[in-house]
Formats: sequence, structure tokens, C-alpha cells
Amino acid sequence: MRGMAEFALPPPPVPAVPVEGQDQAFAVRRILCVGRNYAAHRREMGGDDRDPPFFFAKPADAIAPPGRDPAYPPRTANLHHEIELVVAIGKAGAGLTPDQALDLVYGYAVGVDLTRRDLQNAAKDKGQPWDAGKGFDDSAPISAIRRWSGPPPQGRIAISVNGQVKQAATVADMIWNVAEVIAEASKLWRLAPGDLIYTGTPEGVGPLARGDRVSGEVEGVGQLDFTVV
Ligand code: MN
Repeated sequence: MRGMAEFALPPPPVPAVPVEGQDQAFAVRRILCVGRNYAAHRREMGGDDRDPPFFFAKPADAIAPPGRDPAYPPRTANLHHEIELVVAIGKAGAGLTPDQALDLVYGYAVGVDLTRRDLQNAAKDKGQPWDAGKGFDDSAPISAIRRWSGPPPQGRIAISVNGQVKQAATVADMIWNVAEVIAEASKLWRLAPGDLIYTGTPEGVGPLARGDRVSGEVEGVGQLDFTVV
């Protein structure tokens, strides 16, 4: 089509996450997130044990890669941290079974699903979408991606704020494991290289203030440090 090779305005930059041990970065296509994937967090959010996990999304440019300190967002008085294991997808796939799903994994990262909890709760009360509560600028801090093959991480997942541990759990406690999360997502969307999946947070979510030093870790995957500015 004539004119398709040129843009009316400069195209936006490609959001990208560094990959440990190499110069090339991981270009981000989409960010999917799992809600209520740890039983104790599901209960602290007012859900019950019959609620299945579910997905929501953030825009690709919501990532805050290492070195970018997320800005405290406007229109909230209750910004929350949610530490999460992040799956980086490296191959295309759709309609997968859990047995097929791990073949899509490029690597893993440590992520924080920053949440304007007051806006999310107001949206829940009114049956409105979560975008303003979840999908804002800098709402997806992420560590460098660690390349990975074989069984997914199972170990400790934790976050501390100003040196105090706020969330500490075990990835193996996820209701849907990594293979099941990828398989479920692939039944709803065509997955493709560049997709990131935030796999849900354990109990202990809580508020962040400007100036808070945040340090997250997933055993075997890495560490993520930032300050809320
Ligand atoms: Mn979350």
C-alpha cells in the first residue's frame, strides 16, 4: 500500500528489557498479568477459594526496566507493590496445552505489578475496567531477563521496602503454575515473541510512598531494585 512505509509522526520507541549476559534487548510486545494466582492473596483481596485466576493487561510501554525509577503516579493515595515472577515469551503459540507451553519460554524476570489500589477498588465496586488502576505509566518495573530452559523457577519470591520484608512466599504456591498460565493465556490470545506475563502476587501487598527503596527477588531469577520518585 502506498505510503505505508512512512509514518505521519515519528514512531514511538520500542519498549525493551535487557537480557542478562548479552547486548541485545528483549523488545516488549504485550504485557499480560494474572490476578489472584496465590490463595492467600486472593483472600486478602476479598475473594474466596472458588474464584479462578484471571487475566488483565498493561500497555507495553508501562515497563520500567533496570535503571528507571518509577514515578509515583497521579490520582492515587494508595499505590501498592505486588512482587511477581515474569515469564518472557520467545516463540509464537496459540491454543496450547500445559505440556506444550514451556517451549515458548525465553526467560524469566522479577517484576512488580504497581497498582493504584484506590482506583482499582473503585472500579471493582462499579464493575468498571481496571486500566486506570493497573495500566498506568511506569506501572511494570522489571529486572533484566534471565535466559532459561527446563523446569520453571519454584523458589522464594520476596519484596522489601526500605529494608523491611513485606511479601515473602514460594513460587511453587501459585494456583496456576507457569505452564498452566501460558496455556490459559494462549487460549485467549495468540502469544508471540515479546510478550511478558506477570504471573500474580502472593499475600502481603501494601502501600508505597515517594522515596521508598524497593528491592524484589525471585530465587534463581534475579533481583530488582528501584526507588519510587
Ligand atoms: Mn498482580
